[in-house]
Amino acid sequence: MLTTRPRGTNDILPGEVEKWQYVEKLAREVCREYGYGELRTPIFEHTELFSRGVGEATDIVEKEMYTFTDRGERSITLRPENTAATVRAYLENKLQALPQPVKLYYMGPMFRYDRPQAGRFRQFHQFGVEAFGSHNPSIDAEVIAMAMDLYQRIGLRDLELHINSVGCPQCRPGLRQRLQEHFKPHLEKLCPNCQGRFERNPLRILDCKNETCQDIGRQAPTTLDVLCDECNTHFNLVKNYLDAVGVRYIVNNRLVRGLDYYTHTAFEIMAQDIGAQSSIGGGGRYNGLMEACGGPATPGIGFALGLERILLTAERQGITFPVSREPAAFVATVGTEVEKQAFSLLQSLRQQGIAAEKDYLARSLKAQMKYAGKLGARWVVILGEEELTRGVAMVRDMQAGEQQEVKLAELVNYIRK
Ligand SMILES: [Zn+2]
Ligand SMILES: [Zn+2]
Repeated sequence: MLTTRPRGTNDILPGEVEKWQYVEKLAREVCREYGYGELRTPIFEHTELFSRGVGEATDIVEKEMYTFTDRGERSITLRPENTAATVRAYLENKLQALPQPVKLYYMGPMFRYDRPQAGRFRQFHQFGVEAFGSHNPSIDAEVIAMAMDLYQRIGLRDLELHINSVGCPQCRPGLRQRLQEHFKPHLEKLCPNCQGRFERNPLRILDCKNETCQDIGRQAPTTLDVLCDECNTHFNLVKNYLDAVGVRYIVNNRLVRGLDYYTHTAFEIMAQDIGAQSSIGGGGRYNGLMEACGGPATPGIGFALGLERILLTAERQGITFPVSREPAAFVATVGTEVEKQAFSLLQSLRQQGIAAEKDYLARSLKAQMKYAGKLGARWVVILGEEELTRGVAMVRDMQAGEQQEVKLAELVNYIRK
């Protein structure tokens, strides 16, 4: 137990973490350019926030939350996603007083007690955005285009963007009724989950992974069959905006959201995996969520992207990131007399922005050179007593295998070049 991490968690080590930092940096750049400010919320919240904000009847709330009672007898839950917390923060900090829309992004760990598999962890990481306070379909398109922009900057290929409209409280009750009419004759053939969904939420039957349910659902009516005029107009405008910026999409009328506060646009980005497709992110509009969380009616839209899935897809597509943590310079010493000078040289190299390393194990010069090679240092500065008295050091170019005497005063500039 002491030397084993809990199932479904991960250690991200140096060598690997640079990829994360690279993707996170791209995400922050995209957010700056699209006008989204970072929001950092706690990783735990009151359990009620998620049962309300994510929905009682969802797998997340029913089976997957890390919920515990704290020492003050409060029910606390590690966040399984971050939209509900973002809504909570918007209300609690009275962000409705700011000019609208308010555009926020977040990045960090989420927690779900799920069956671990490739790219899926119990502690996983999401990057997401939420925009509150606008009904305008251009913001739907912006959120989608922004996600696609990030994937493109990362270098991911062969992605499919699926979009749909899930309707609104005006048109959805009609769908519910038509779905029940469709599924009623087949009720006994549906999986036990879907039999439960039939009354509670027939829309979610369309989402079931069970083959029989999928077969029966194939001919079922969809949201697109029942959209009201307003929903139709909204959806067409979203598509027009996406067309205008050359974002390609597939209209997928099977893409549904199980909860009532989801409205209008829903989207999901699929990556071609070995043999199968897997989702690497998705989102949509949730105009009813703010009210469900006890706030005034406020429209909202956002996405959440799974960082593990993105990195796994990048790896499978053979994408290499321009990341390096190799020191540029290694300061080697000959004799103990020069160690103090070597130490201060190292410090000034670092203060000039040059990553530099030294030996900490009293290695011989030969062993220091070998160690510098292992670290991947481009330059090795060799300091000896005799050179020091002349104010010079020997600098070895590890790539070219050549060395040259350089004046100490010019060393930083020499290496920087
Ligand atoms: Zn509608
Ligand atoms: Zn089913």
